[in-house]
Amino acid sequence: MANIGYIQVVRHCNHFCGFCSNPTTPYTHDLETMKVLVDDLVARGYFGVVMTGGEPTLHPELPEIVAYASARGLHVRMITNGWRLADRGFARELADAGLRLVHVSIYSVRPEVEAQLRGVEGTLERAFAALDNAAEAGVEVNINSVISRLNADHLDQNIRHFIRHHPQVRHFVWNNLDPSMGRAEVNQERFVPRLADFELSLHRALRLLHRSGRTFRVERVPLCYMTEFAWASTETRKIVKGEERVVHFLDDKQTVRQTAWGHIYAAGCERCSLQPICGGLFDRGGAYDPAELAPVFVDMEPIVAAILGDPGDPSFTATTLAAWREDFARRGAPARVPGEPEAMREPVVPVGRITERGRRLFEAKRRAEAGKAERLGIELERGPTDESAQGGET
Ligand code: SF4
Repeated sequence: MANIGYIQVVRHCNHFCGFCSNPTTPYTHDLETMKVLVDDLVARGYFGVVMTGGEPTLHPELPEIVAYASARGLHVRMITNGWRLADRGFARELADAGLRLVHVSIYSVRPEVEAQLRGVEGTLERAFAALDNAAEAGVEVNINSVISRLNADHLDQNIRHFIRHHPQVRHFVWNNLDPSMGRAEVNQERFVPRLADFELSLHRALRLLHRSGRTFRVERVPLCYMTEFAWASTETRKIVKGEERVVHFLDDKQTVRQTAWGHIYAAGCERCSLQPICGGLFDRGGAYDPAELAPVFVDMEPIVAAILGDPGDPSFTATTLAAWREDFARRGAPARVPGEPEAMREPVVPVGRITERGRRLFEAKRRAEAGKAERLGIELERGPTDESAQGGET
């Protein structure tokens, strides 16, 4: 399996998205604490690592940790808002260090919508420059987009723009908003979409991409809202292939190993033919409504066959449908219990540390962000636990 792990390199950011699910904490990393996590992923036999955050490009030792992970044989990726990659020299430096793939996060090609979602003006032009600079430096470029109430109606307009102006981007990833953590949790009313809000525009966007020969993945969207492209669901692909995901959170959660991909199901899901391979409705945070789910009655095996037969997938291994059926029956049951907690904590090695300096920086950031939140009319996330907020040198 081509499992991919995530390392949160920093938790601060130069943007201020009102729905950020991973805002700033008192924890910090240095090169040594990050190396331990890279070694952990290597020991697990993982295919790759995604450097994420916060905004990972704000860590002064990012090129060094990219070089280390690359030298240890991992496929090194990064999720970024693109602000610093607008500097061509920096894009080149990361490419030379071994960065292979970058996901630039863009929510809307409408500047006024992007500014509202980012909490900062002028981000769009820099993100567009990042797409071009990374590609020019030889790094594969994908676009990541969080689906929210503000962009839900024009996901297809975004795609038309990218196809026309940034044809080098060949792969797109949508994440429906995670309403369970950080500022997303306390600003649900403003940002969480209903599934019906984006159903049509997502469908039009996926059709455009598919027709143009581009590829895509969609996370946290139940299959009844993307039935035609069910093979592109991140959860479905992981359920079918039995993959896991490790996230090294730079906060009190520390290391989370995710092996179950089912969320919750409505009563009607019992009758749905896709239920065995569907992740259901993302329930954490309680912001989505199970009443929006509706069973579908299509054959699931062509969907499974499309996933198993995708040679562009890094975890591709030639498997027959018959062999898959047997394997799925053997391992499927534990992951299919509705309501089962999605994530399991697995303490391994410490993720980052809290130092006196990190705590002071965190407090200064919280004060600055409180001012930003007030100006933008959004709620600031709940603070960290007393333990991490008070923690000294460790
Ligand atoms: S199992 Fe439920 S959530 Fe999944 S596609 Fe069927 S009706 Fe929708």
